[in-house]
Amino acid sequence: MRYISTRGQAPALNFEDVLLAGLATDGGLYVPENLPRFTQEEIASWAGLPYHELAFRVMRPFVTGSIPDADFKKILEETYGVFSHNAVAPLRQLNSNEWVMELFHGPTLAFKDFALQLLGRLLDYVLEKRGERVVIVGATSGDTGSAAIEGCKHCENVDIFILHPHNRVSEVQRRQMTTIFGENIHNIAIEGNFDDCQEMVKASFADQSFLKGTRLVAVNSINWARIMAQIVYYFHAALQLGGPARSVSFSVPTGNFGDIFAGYLARNMGLPINQLIVATNRNDILHRFMSGNQYVKETLHATLSPSMDIMVSSNFERLLFDLHGRNGAAIAGLMDTFKQGGGFSVEEERWTEARKLFDSLAVDDAQTCETIAEVFEQTGELLDPHTAIGVKAARECRRSLDIPMVILGTAHPVKFPDAVEKAGVGKALELPAHLSDLFERDERCTVLPNDLKAVQAFVSQHGNRGKPL
Ligand SMILES: *Cc1c(COP(=O)(O)O)cnc(C)c1O
Repeated sequence: MRYISTRGQAPALNFEDVLLAGLATDGGLYVPENLPRFTQEEIASWAGLPYHELAFRVMRPFVTGSIPDADFKKILEETYGVFSHNAVAPLRQLNSNEWVMELFHGPTLAFKDFALQLLGRLLDYVLEKRGERVVIVGATSGDTGSAAIEGCKHCENVDIFILHPHNRVSEVQRRQMTTIFGENIHNIAIEGNFDDCQEMVKASFADQSFLKGTRLVAVNSINWARIMAQIVYYFHAALQLGGPARSVSFSVPTGNFGDIFAGYLARNMGLPINQLIVATNRNDILHRFMSGNQYVKETLHATLSPSMDIMVSSNFERLLFDLHGRNGAAIAGLMDTFKQGGGFSVEEERWTEARKLFDSLAVDDAQTCETIAEVFEQTGELLDPHTAIGVKAARECRRSLDIPMVILGTAHPVKFPDAVEKAGVGKALELPAHLSDLFERDERCTVLPNDLKAVQAFVSQHGNRGKPL
């Protein structure tokens, strides 16, 4: 499988290189040159497979040529073996023909474990084979950091540095990062905000001289391998609800457009999906595009669903690329306009094409709390605020009651106690067994000033299993 850039100017890469790449050299994102397509018979024959075996069948075409089947199978069995629910991604029914797919049974209680548990293992496998080491520098406002650290903690060939804004992530989220120890794990609290952290990561990718030749790898969802891993659970849900003979719809709590883009790919690979709902919070750039063909940046608002607090959605570029007939020059042009502060609209027929599949809704904090309370009252299920936004959007935007609706349950409510409390649900939140002593554990973290040079110096001092690069 070869991968090409959405801006058309960077060299095509194989899976291994795309795994180790960040942005393409032309500033674009990598996508498969040709998407594999499965027949209905083939998809139907996967009904009842354990999650890791389904994962093997769905992802195999993407890694062919880079990872032999037997090795890939073993990696997948290990990856999904760490999830605490035997079904890995169980479906729970909320209402007539309406389900939540619980994607929070991984080590850090958010769906990001599906991709980052795999990413860590894939990196280690590929690096071992090549005899190389890499450094990860990532920024987090919460969920990505802990999932990345959990995913990489056993990696022999990876040193990971996660920057979070000092005193601006929740205590659960911080502790999920800072209580994991290892000579290759480095938590850095920056005296600044999330954007400052993200800027430092971007600047480090642009000029990697401080790494003395060691490669820098991306763990945010611009990394293709993360998207790839998320395609699997769309197949998993559909197969349990009568697919592929019957089509299924999904509502996806959305920030960077990574998770829902995986659903779009599943459909293009042959899975009958009727509708994909982009569920956003008040940071609604994607909703404004889907409802009115305007892609325009606005100020960032802090909400009760912080993992979706974004101004721009990096993976949206991957959809735009397809909507423009995979014309890289057109995408480079659009992104240039966008960067210069202008928003953009796309031609009417391209937007209409997108709307055949996508609907959207922006849900504010008050509606989020209402939905948490309502669902709890009706079913006894306690939703996290991100998932609640997905439920609200599913109920508002649904096209057909005959088609099963699956809401992606992106996080466990215990990660977001503020929202649950505001919703007035009188249920005590309990940490799952593997995290029950989280608040008693020792923490390890370095506080650094909001200064790129200081951060880079720290990385080069500790980037080789705690020793200088
Ligand atoms: C990351 C995250 C999202 C948003 O997913 P994207 O792929 O960025 O759209 C939604 N909910 C939770 C809990 C998350 O951690």
